[in-house]
Amino acid sequence: MSDLHIVAIANQKGGVGKTTTAINLGAALAQAGHPTVLVDLDAQGNASTGLGIDADQRVKTTFDLLAGSEDLEDVAIDTDVPNLRIVPATSDLSSAEIELSQVADRVRLLRKKLRKTVPGTIILIDCPPALGLLTVNAMVAADSVLVPLQAEFLALEGLSQLLTTVRQVRQTANPDLRVNGVLLTMADARTTLSQQVEADARATLGDLVYPTVIPRNVRVSEAPSHAQPVLNYDPSSKGSAAYRQFATEFAARLKLIPEAA
Ligand code: ADP
Ligand code: MG
Repeated sequence: MSDLHIVAIANQKGGVGKTTTAINLGAALAQAGHPTVLVDLDAQGNASTGLGIDADQRVKTTFDLLAGSEDLEDVAIDTDVPNLRIVPATSDLSSAEIELSQVADRVRLLRKKLRKTVPGTIILIDCPPALGLLTVNAMVAADSVLVPLQAEFLALEGLSQLLTTVRQVRQTANPDLRVNGVLLTMADARTTLSQQVEADARATLGDLVYPTVIPRNVRVSEAPSHAQPVLNYDPSSKGSAAYRQFATEFAARLKLIPEAA
């Protein structure tokens, strides 16, 4: 399979596991032999930091990709994970919504750049916690949207707003956009609340919800401060096992052919 796959990881709520999923799904896909690029589309730059990209390495950033003449190959840099590159973000991305608000075709800026990428690449876009111009750019560029959902009270509340945005993008700039799936994150198997949220999500969304659920796991939350995916920081942790299993399901949904053993 030599297609280009672009997946926006989006949820307008902060703290639901978007960045953690971008880093660890990216690392797992890369380790499975799929060339992967993570585009950090959040001005907080958490995905960049979590993968150990220092400030002095953030010379060319996602902002240049959006607002400048740079292409993906000019801005993507290597990470410590073989096969995984990142387009880093800095805080200058926080002014992008305003700076780009008058630009013609402003919702297609990212699409124009990413669609030129070499086939066979998987691009994961780590979206900011809002449904503004940046997330819309990601959705217009993407083939599909992956939605991390934290297994907590009212988890499903914001989902209809997100799906409305997906529908609007489909009706305007990107008719081919699909929902890749919903990933339940930070689940606590011991609490009935977590189980209830999972049951509700599966009843409401059916097969859209990935079979694998990511458990709340302290090693997952420690990994970013060690500038590593949890897959490298503690490969035998429950969080790593869950993200590896999820990546297999994700690859199957993308119809990626596994690397020959
Ligand atoms: P978002 O990008 O949606 O804002 P993050 O991925 O940054 O969310 O996650 C929010 C916080 O929760 C971070 O501190 C992260 O380390 C922590 N976290 C994410 N997933 C897990 C998990 N499975 N177990 C424990 N902590 C987690
Ligand atoms: Mg984030």
